[in-house]
Amino acid sequence: MVVIKEIETRSILTKSNLPVGDYSVNPYVGCTHACKYCYASFMKRFTNHAEPWGEFLDVKHWPEIKNPQKYCGKELFFGSVTDPYNPQEEIYQRTRALLKQLQGSGIKLSIQTKSDLVLRDIDLIKSFPDARVGFSINTLDEAFKDDMDKAVSIERRLAAMRELHDAGIRTTCFISPIFPGITDVSAIIDRVKEQCNLVWLENLNLRDGYKAVIMDYIAEKYPNLLPLYREIYTDGSRLYWETLDRIIRTCAEKSGLEYMWDDDSMEKPFDAPPVIVNFFYHEEIKKSAKKGGKTNA
Ligand code: SF4
Repeated sequence: MVVIKEIETRSILTKSNLPVGDYSVNPYVGCTHACKYCYASFMKRFTNHAEPWGEFLDVKHWPEIKNPQKYCGKELFFGSVTDPYNPQEEIYQRTRALLKQLQGSGIKLSIQTKSDLVLRDIDLIKSFPDARVGFSINTLDEAFKDDMDKAVSIERRLAAMRELHDAGIRTTCFISPIFPGITDVSAIIDRVKEQCNLVWLENLNLRDGYKAVIMDYIAEKYPNLLPLYREIYTDGSRLYWETLDRIIRTCAEKSGLEYMWDDDSMEKPFDAPPVIVNFFYHEEIKKSAKKGGKTNA
């Protein structure tokens, strides 16, 4: 059972230092997709909820945004610590309300979701310049997906991605998190390459409470992979990721796709083949970029 509360917040736009947007927007606190590997579950510490992550949801209400035009040209990223199209959005419509408030402001919209509920707002989304919608897809195996999250099936996400792309909206396939030995990156790219503009790769990080959850899961369901997981997550080896990086680079070359560390997909024509962006170890990349370091491969 999900505990739902409606709350008042002072503001809905948060200045962001994420590489994906100037502002992050989270119309909810918590996320009922309840992914086992959720990086956002640290948010629970900042709530008064005793329920486990995935079993509570605060529905935000915020004051009217005065002069939304002042955000013109800025990129707003919807969904850094929640899914803006969690199933409760169907009832509360807070994401939809915000899109309506921002219509005509000239902001660049970037939405990240695991739900095809986003299709409800397709006309609204289309009215924003340079909008893009990303779907998290880290497997084509529905049984593994069901073990990991309570969101809609992979097939429904793929169908939604196709529909948005056919409607002229830029789409991203966010292959994240990549589970060593489980996520078949090449197969996913092959499946989505005709219906997305960007493929974004992120490795599985294991930290906090969910490290034990994932390691226990691997021990139970994929015991043959346990030595590999220990090598990566106990011994700190990067060999798996370095090898995967080389494999993807070769696949990309064979398929005529660009493979890089920086996302320039917005500069490409809509019907250009998707760009593949490697986001492995992005926290280090971010630090290095802040210091003026080079992030290109
Ligand atoms: S959809 Fe995203 S925010 Fe929601 S539980 Fe999954 S990883 Fe966390």
